[in-house]
Amino acid sequence: MEAIEKEPMYHFLPGTTNLSIAIAGCNLRCSFCQNWLITQFSPVESMNYSRTPKDILELVRMNACPTINFTYSEPTIFYEYMFDVAELAKHLGIKSICHFNGHMREKPLRNLCRVLDAVCVDLKGFEEEFYRNVCSGSLETVLDNLKIIKQEGLHLEIINLVIPDINDDLSIIKKMCQWIVDNLGVETPMHFLRFSPRYKLNNLDYTPLEILEAAREIALSCGLHYSYISNIPIHDAKSTYCPQCGNILIERENNTVVKNVIENGRCKYCNFNIAGVWI
Ligand SMILES: [Zn+2]
Repeated sequence: MEAIEKEPMYHFLPGTTNLSIAIAGCNLRCSFCQNWLITQFSPVESMNYSRTPKDILELVRMNACPTINFTYSEPTIFYEYMFDVAELAKHLGIKSICHFNGHMREKPLRNLCRVLDAVCVDLKGFEEEFYRNVCSGSLETVLDNLKIIKQEGLHLEIINLVIPDINDDLSIIKKMCQWIVDNLGVETPMHFLRFSPRYKLNNLDYTPLEILEAAREIALSCGLHYSYISNIPIHDAKSTYCPQCGNILIERENNTVVKNVIENGRCKYCNFNIAGVWI
Protein backbone atom coordinates (compact mmCIF):
# COMPACT_ATOMS: atom_id res chain seq x y z
CA MET A 1 0.00 0.00 0.00
CA GLU A 2 1.49 3.30 -1.05
CA ALA A 3 0.50 6.89 -1.65
CA ILE A 4 -0.12 7.48 -5.33
CA GLU A 5 2.15 10.55 -5.02
CA LYS A 6 5.10 8.18 -4.54
CA GLU A 7 4.80 6.94 -8.15
CA PRO A 8 4.99 9.93 -8.83
CA MET A 9 1.48 10.47 -10.20
CA TYR A 10 0.02 13.84 -9.21
CA HIS A 11 -3.10 14.27 -11.35
CA PHE A 12 -4.91 11.00 -10.63
CA LEU A 13 -6.94 10.65 -7.43
CA PRO A 14 -4.47 12.66 -5.29
CA GLY A 15 -4.19 11.69 -1.64
CA THR A 16 -5.32 8.10 -2.24
CA THR A 17 -3.36 4.89 -1.75
CA ASN A 18 -2.84 2.05 -4.17
CA LEU A 19 -1.83 -1.57 -3.86
CA SER A 20 1.44 -1.89 -5.78
CA ILE A 21 2.54 -5.24 -7.17
CA ALA A 22 5.46 -6.51 -9.26
CA ILE A 23 7.27 -9.57 -10.52
CA ALA A 24 11.08 -9.35 -10.76
CA GLY A 25 12.62 -8.58 -14.15
CA CYS A 26 12.97 -6.04 -16.96
CA ASN A 27 13.39 -5.96 -20.73
CA LEU A 28 15.92 -3.08 -20.51
CA ARG A 29 19.38 -2.90 -18.94
CA CYS A 30 19.69 0.70 -17.73
CA SER A 31 23.03 1.18 -16.00
CA PHE A 32 21.43 3.81 -13.72
CA CYS A 33 18.47 1.65 -12.65
CA GLN A 34 17.02 2.91 -9.37
CA ASN A 35 15.28 -0.44 -8.67
CA TRP A 36 17.98 -2.81 -9.94
CA LEU A 37 17.61 -5.26 -7.06
CA ILE A 38 14.14 -6.04 -8.46
CA THR A 39 14.57 -5.39 -12.17
CA GLN A 40 17.88 -7.04 -12.91
CA PHE A 41 16.94 -10.42 -11.47
CA SER A 42 14.48 -13.00 -12.71
CA PRO A 43 11.49 -14.50 -10.87
CA VAL A 44 13.50 -17.66 -10.14
CA GLU A 45 16.17 -15.57 -8.40
CA SER A 46 13.68 -13.75 -6.15
CA MET A 47 11.15 -14.62 -3.47
CA ASN A 48 7.62 -14.73 -4.83
CA TYR A 49 4.10 -15.27 -3.60
CA SER A 50 1.50 -17.15 -5.58
CA ARG A 51 -1.58 -14.93 -6.00
CA THR A 52 -4.37 -15.26 -8.54
CA PRO A 53 -5.94 -12.07 -9.96
CA LYS A 54 -8.91 -12.75 -7.68
CA ASP A 55 -6.57 -12.93 -4.63
CA ILE A 56 -5.01 -9.60 -5.60
CA LEU A 57 -8.34 -7.84 -6.03
CA GLU A 58 -9.50 -9.23 -2.69
CA LEU A 59 -6.42 -7.60 -1.08
CA VAL A 60 -7.26 -4.31 -2.81
CA ARG A 61 -10.81 -4.50 -1.54
CA MET A 62 -9.78 -5.42 2.05
CA ASN A 63 -7.43 -2.42 2.15
CA ALA A 64 -10.07 -0.12 0.65
CA CYS A 65 -7.71 1.08 -2.12
CA PRO A 66 -9.35 2.65 -5.17
CA THR A 67 -6.44 1.53 -7.36
CA ILE A 68 -4.14 -1.36 -8.21
CA ASN A 69 -0.70 -0.32 -9.45
CA PHE A 70 1.75 -2.33 -11.60
CA THR A 71 5.13 -0.79 -10.86
CA TYR A 72 8.60 -1.23 -9.22
CA SER A 73 9.98 -3.58 -11.89
CA GLU A 74 8.89 -3.58 -15.55
CA PRO A 75 5.24 -4.62 -15.96
CA THR A 76 5.86 -5.51 -19.63
CA ILE A 77 7.57 -8.71 -18.50
CA PHE A 78 4.43 -9.84 -16.64
CA TYR A 79 2.02 -8.48 -19.25
CA GLU A 80 -0.43 -11.41 -19.24
CA TYR A 81 -0.76 -11.39 -15.46
CA MET A 82 -1.15 -7.59 -15.40
CA PHE A 83 -3.82 -7.78 -18.10
CA ASP A 84 -5.84 -10.41 -16.21
CA VAL A 85 -5.67 -8.45 -12.93
CA ALA A 86 -6.59 -5.14 -14.62
CA GLU A 87 -9.45 -6.74 -16.56
CA LEU A 88 -10.94 -8.20 -13.39
CA ALA A 89 -10.37 -4.89 -11.57
CA LYS A 90 -12.37 -3.09 -14.24
CA HIS A 91 -15.30 -5.46 -13.70
CA LEU A 92 -15.14 -4.73 -9.97
CA GLY A 93 -14.93 -0.92 -10.37
CA ILE A 94 -11.30 -0.75 -9.22
CA LYS A 95 -8.92 1.42 -11.24
CA SER A 96 -5.57 0.23 -12.63
CA ILE A 97 -2.29 2.07 -13.16
CA CYS A 98 0.79 0.88 -15.01
CA HIS A 99 4.24 2.47 -14.68
CA PHE A 100 6.35 1.18 -17.54
CA ASN A 101 9.24 1.96 -19.86
CA GLY A 102 7.33 2.35 -23.14
CA HIS A 103 8.71 -0.65 -25.00
CA MET A 104 5.54 -2.52 -25.95
CA ARG A 105 4.38 -3.52 -29.41
CA GLU A 106 1.35 -1.62 -30.69
CA LYS A 107 -1.27 -4.37 -30.53
CA PRO A 108 -0.64 -5.54 -26.93
CA LEU A 109 -0.32 -1.91 -25.80
CA ARG A 110 -3.66 -0.94 -27.36
CA ASN A 111 -5.28 -4.02 -25.80
CA LEU A 112 -3.83 -3.12 -22.41
CA CYS A 113 -5.14 0.44 -22.70
CA ARG A 114 -8.68 -0.98 -22.80
CA VAL A 115 -8.34 -2.25 -19.23
CA LEU A 116 -6.09 0.42 -17.65
CA ASP A 117 -7.10 3.85 -16.33
CA ALA A 118 -3.77 5.67 -16.08
CA VAL A 119 -0.16 5.24 -17.17
CA CYS A 120 3.22 6.58 -16.03
CA VAL A 121 5.90 6.32 -18.70
CA ASP A 122 9.61 6.75 -18.11
CA LEU A 123 11.00 8.94 -20.87
CA LYS A 124 14.60 8.40 -19.86
CA GLY A 125 16.24 10.73 -22.35
CA PHE A 126 15.75 12.20 -25.79
CA GLU A 127 18.61 10.78 -27.85
CA GLU A 128 18.53 7.45 -29.65
CA GLU A 129 22.22 6.92 -28.81
CA PHE A 130 21.52 7.36 -25.08
CA TYR A 131 18.72 4.80 -25.17
CA ARG A 132 20.86 2.33 -27.13
CA ASN A 133 24.07 2.70 -25.12
CA VAL A 134 22.83 3.30 -21.57
CA CYS A 135 19.48 1.45 -21.53
CA SER A 136 19.68 -1.15 -24.34
CA GLY A 137 16.42 0.40 -25.49
CA SER A 138 14.93 2.54 -28.26
CA LEU A 139 13.76 6.16 -28.04
CA GLU A 140 11.64 5.77 -31.19
CA THR A 141 9.70 2.92 -29.57
CA VAL A 142 9.00 4.96 -26.42
CA LEU A 143 7.77 7.92 -28.46
CA ASP A 144 5.49 5.62 -30.49
CA ASN A 145 4.14 4.11 -27.24
CA LEU A 146 3.44 7.59 -25.85
CA LYS A 147 1.49 8.60 -28.96
CA ILE A 148 -0.56 5.38 -28.79
CA ILE A 149 -1.44 6.00 -25.11
CA LYS A 150 -2.49 9.55 -25.99
CA GLN A 151 -4.65 8.27 -28.87
CA GLU A 152 -6.29 5.73 -26.56
CA GLY A 153 -7.27 8.55 -24.21
CA LEU A 154 -5.68 7.27 -21.01
CA HIS A 155 -4.51 9.57 -18.27
CA LEU A 156 -0.75 9.88 -18.85
CA GLU A 157 2.11 11.31 -16.78
CA ILE A 158 5.74 11.37 -17.88
CA ILE A 159 8.79 10.79 -15.73
CA ASN A 160 12.34 11.82 -16.59
CA LEU A 161 15.15 10.75 -14.25
CA VAL A 162 17.83 13.43 -14.59
CA ILE A 163 21.28 11.85 -14.26
CA PRO A 164 24.36 14.10 -13.81
CA ASP A 165 26.58 14.13 -16.92
CA ILE A 166 24.50 11.42 -18.59
CA ASN A 167 21.22 13.02 -19.69
CA ASP A 168 21.23 16.47 -18.04
CA ASP A 169 21.94 18.52 -21.17
CA LEU A 170 19.31 21.26 -20.95
CA SER A 171 19.17 21.76 -24.71
CA ILE A 172 18.15 18.09 -25.09
CA ILE A 173 15.63 18.44 -22.25
CA LYS A 174 14.16 21.40 -24.13
CA LYS A 175 13.75 19.27 -27.28
CA MET A 176 12.05 16.58 -25.20
CA CYS A 177 9.60 19.06 -23.65
CA GLN A 178 8.82 20.58 -27.05
CA TRP A 179 8.08 17.11 -28.42
CA ILE A 180 5.66 16.49 -25.54
CA VAL A 181 3.88 19.81 -26.19
CA ASP A 182 3.59 19.07 -29.92
CA ASN A 183 2.60 15.40 -29.67
CA LEU A 184 0.91 14.84 -26.31
CA GLY A 185 -0.35 18.29 -25.37
CA VAL A 186 0.38 20.98 -22.79
CA GLU A 187 -1.78 19.26 -20.17
CA THR A 188 0.60 16.27 -19.82
CA PRO A 189 2.15 16.35 -16.32
CA MET A 190 5.96 16.13 -16.51
CA HIS A 191 8.06 14.96 -13.54
CA PHE A 192 11.81 15.48 -13.25
CA LEU A 193 13.20 12.95 -10.80
CA ARG A 194 16.35 13.30 -8.76
CA PHE A 195 18.89 10.54 -9.44
CA SER A 196 20.38 8.60 -6.50
CA PRO A 197 23.80 7.00 -7.08
CA ARG A 198 23.35 3.24 -7.40
CA TYR A 199 23.84 0.13 -9.55
CA LYS A 200 26.47 0.71 -12.28
CA LEU A 201 26.46 4.49 -11.89
CA ASN A 202 27.07 4.61 -8.14
CA ASN A 203 30.19 6.72 -8.81
CA LEU A 204 27.97 9.68 -9.78
CA ASP A 205 26.51 12.20 -7.35
CA TYR A 206 22.87 13.06 -6.66
CA THR A 207 21.34 15.37 -9.29
CA PRO A 208 22.03 18.99 -8.26
CA LEU A 209 18.81 20.75 -7.32
CA GLU A 210 19.63 23.64 -9.70
CA ILE A 211 19.60 21.27 -12.68
CA LEU A 212 16.19 19.91 -11.70
CA GLU A 213 14.86 23.43 -11.21
CA ALA A 214 16.27 24.49 -14.59
CA ALA A 215 14.69 21.47 -16.30
CA ARG A 216 11.33 22.32 -14.76
CA GLU A 217 11.59 25.94 -15.88
CA ILE A 218 12.34 24.77 -19.41
CA ALA A 219 9.26 22.53 -19.39
CA LEU A 220 7.09 25.44 -18.28
CA SER A 221 8.66 27.83 -20.80
CA CYS A 222 7.93 25.30 -23.58
CA GLY A 223 4.27 25.60 -22.63
CA LEU A 224 3.66 22.55 -20.43
CA HIS A 225 1.09 23.44 -17.78
CA TYR A 226 2.30 21.12 -15.04
CA SER A 227 5.92 20.33 -14.30
CA TYR A 228 7.28 18.88 -11.06
CA ILE A 229 10.45 17.93 -9.24
CA SER A 230 10.22 14.58 -7.47
CA ASN A 231 12.38 12.33 -5.28
CA ILE A 232 12.93 15.21 -2.87
CA PRO A 233 10.89 15.63 0.31
CA ILE A 234 9.93 19.30 0.25
CA HIS A 235 10.03 21.83 -2.59
CA ASP A 236 7.68 24.39 -4.11
CA ALA A 237 7.93 22.44 -7.37
CA LYS A 238 6.03 19.53 -5.79
CA SER A 239 2.87 21.69 -5.72
CA THR A 240 0.27 21.95 -8.46
CA TYR A 241 -0.32 25.53 -9.63
CA CYS A 242 -3.24 26.79 -11.68
CA PRO A 243 -1.91 27.51 -15.21
CA GLN A 244 -4.32 30.46 -15.51
CA CYS A 245 -4.27 32.32 -12.17
CA GLY A 246 -1.08 30.87 -10.65
CA ASN A 247 -2.58 29.96 -7.27
CA ILE A 248 -1.45 26.80 -5.48
CA LEU A 249 -4.12 24.14 -5.92
CA ILE A 250 -2.44 21.07 -4.43
CA GLU A 251 0.36 21.29 -1.89
CA ARG A 252 2.52 18.23 -1.16
CA GLU A 253 5.07 17.42 1.53
CA ASN A 254 7.03 14.23 1.11
CA ASN A 255 4.35 12.10 -0.56
CA THR A 256 1.43 13.51 1.38
CA VAL A 257 -1.19 15.95 0.09
CA VAL A 258 -1.48 18.71 2.71
CA LYS A 259 -3.86 20.93 0.72
CA ASN A 260 -6.15 20.37 -2.26
CA VAL A 261 -8.54 23.05 -3.45
CA ILE A 262 -9.47 21.56 -6.82
CA GLU A 263 -13.26 21.45 -6.95
CA ASN A 264 -15.01 19.31 -9.58
CA GLY A 265 -11.79 19.24 -11.59
CA ARG A 266 -11.52 23.03 -11.65
CA CYS A 267 -9.46 25.76 -10.01
CA LYS A 268 -11.29 27.05 -6.96
CA TYR A 269 -10.17 30.61 -7.72
CA CYS A 270 -10.68 31.08 -11.47
CA ASN A 271 -12.62 27.97 -12.58
CA PHE A 272 -9.86 26.85 -15.00
CA ASN A 273 -10.20 23.18 -15.96
CA ILE A 274 -7.32 21.22 -14.40
CA ALA A 275 -6.32 18.14 -16.41
CA GLY A 276 -6.55 14.88 -14.51
CA VAL A 277 -8.83 12.43 -12.74
CA TRP A 278 -10.10 13.93 -9.50
CA ILE A 279 -12.07 12.61 -6.57
ZN1 LIG B 1 -6.96 29.42 -11.29
